[in-house]
Amino acid sequence: MEKVTEPSLDAALVWFRRDLRAEDHAALFHALKAARKVYCGFILDREILDALPRADRRVEFIRDCLVALDTRLQALAPGARLLVRHGLATQELPRLAHELHVQAVYANHDDEPASLARDGRVRGALADLGIALHTGKDHVVFERSELLTGSGKAYSVFTPYKNAWLRKLEPFYVSAYPVERYAHRLAPPAEDVAADIPSLAGIGFEPTNLHELHQGTGEAGARALLDDFLPRIERYGEARDFPAVKGPSYLSMHLRFGTVSIRTLAREAAQRMHHGSAGAAVWLSELVWRDFYHQVLHHHPRVVGASFKPEYDAIKWEHGKHAQALFEAWCEGRTGYPLVDAAMAQINQTGYMHNRLRMVTASFLTKDLGIDWRWGERWFAEKLNDYDLAANNGGWQWAASTGCDAQPYFRIFNPVSQSEKFDAAGKFIRRYLPALAGLSDQAIHAPWLARPIELAEAGVRLGDSYPLPVVMHDEARVRTLERYAVVKG
Ligand code: FAD
Repeated sequence: MEKVTEPSLDAALVWFRRDLRAEDHAALFHALKAARKVYCGFILDREILDALPRADRRVEFIRDCLVALDTRLQALAPGARLLVRHGLATQELPRLAHELHVQAVYANHDDEPASLARDGRVRGALADLGIALHTGKDHVVFERSELLTGSGKAYSVFTPYKNAWLRKLEPFYVSAYPVERYAHRLAPPAEDVAADIPSLAGIGFEPTNLHELHQGTGEAGARALLDDFLPRIERYGEARDFPAVKGPSYLSMHLRFGTVSIRTLAREAAQRMHHGSAGAAVWLSELVWRDFYHQVLHHHPRVVGASFKPEYDAIKWEHGKHAQALFEAWCEGRTGYPLVDAAMAQINQTGYMHNRLRMVTASFLTKDLGIDWRWGERWFAEKLNDYDLAANNGGWQWAASTGCDAQPYFRIFNPVSQSEKFDAAGKFIRRYLPALAGLSDQAIHAPWLARPIELAEAGVRLGDSYPLPVVMHDEARVRTLERYAVVKG
């Protein structure tokens, strides 16, 4: 067991960002080891918030998590609080650090380009006040250049990356930071330091349907999902592809905002894998994909806005009014392809979309409608509760074939056969498209092929109660192969 060391600093501030938990928190642990008094802060950053729609599930989720984290800190040490400020992080964070008279600020890495730029500005402002900013790894298992190829380059193919990841995975990398051991150093702020968490309305936001969706928040919400998932993990490999089945963990929003530690999840999965669980091995692979895309973003920040494979930027996507109309039909779930439309209804109504459907809808947008993957990436960024730049960009570039270890461009999902394969009984489609509920299991995947009598009996009027297809897949496929021909050389 590690010795409890004497701290070298009088006071430090932990700046929480995408890591809204107290358990197994790297920056909190390092601050507690380093300082006699540790304060905790979070900035509701107007640079991010002001660009969002006024009702946003993520903002409501974050606010709930802040309240839960505040309660957790008080339980760890009487009087300890989470100090929340609303304003520009670049101004509010240095101001808070100054007000608390700390010598150092501790935070976990956030490698999105905009976050790195923000951290650079904060580091400068803190330095002007004589305060240090220490940052380190927390939200992935292996970050940045921790895993490189034999020739010292970043990996660009997933399988060798995963093999190297698994080889390096010693217990050290997934063991928890024992925050509780040092928690007595969490300090109550002075009486004149404001410690109220602003309400949702107080920061200019409206409530959403987050709670109707039974989306648990905070560490307790993540724990409940994990407890629900672990007994199912063995079946993950078979169940994860069927959107009507409770197959995946649904932990992505918690991973995004750090209400659960990646080390906890990787440890649970690795232990089960070593005891022979095939499902746990598949799930661990998904966590490795997460790390993979984060290291892609770190090594190739140009993927924000450009194809990982530069030759794919020569592709001429559809543009103009017709493309705009097709894009709107896709966004609003009016393409006439039931699985695509049901998936878009899922993201629009809940902020979640099943992974299989993310692949199907992204493929449909880029390869059936011929629309630039960046348009779809932006729509997902606005809608997804779990929106994460690295994973979303990676997923879109994978589907569009422009990305790092993406599917080949000539692999074009057929939206009807995907539907027949992964939602054979139309259960998912019926849930999100009640207008089609009366169709048979055969007809529901492609209503325009159904006999008029069947449509009439099901109360479906094509072009009225449900749209006709906006494109025919076979024709679109030919156009896509021509479009992508520019990359052949
Ligand atoms: P599970 O199947 O239980 O997987 C566990 C965790 O592994 C996930 O929570 C996630 O953190 C990680 N993970 C799983 N698959 C992937 C993957 N392919 N890439 C990276 N990480 C993965 N995931 C996001 O977290 N945020 C996004 O913005 C995002 N956008 C996507 C866009 C597209 C076009 C595609 C094809 C995929 C995207 N994904 C994204 C990946 C994946 O779809 C989601 O992580 C997953 O559906 C979340 O559900 P879950 O938590 O139930 O996943």
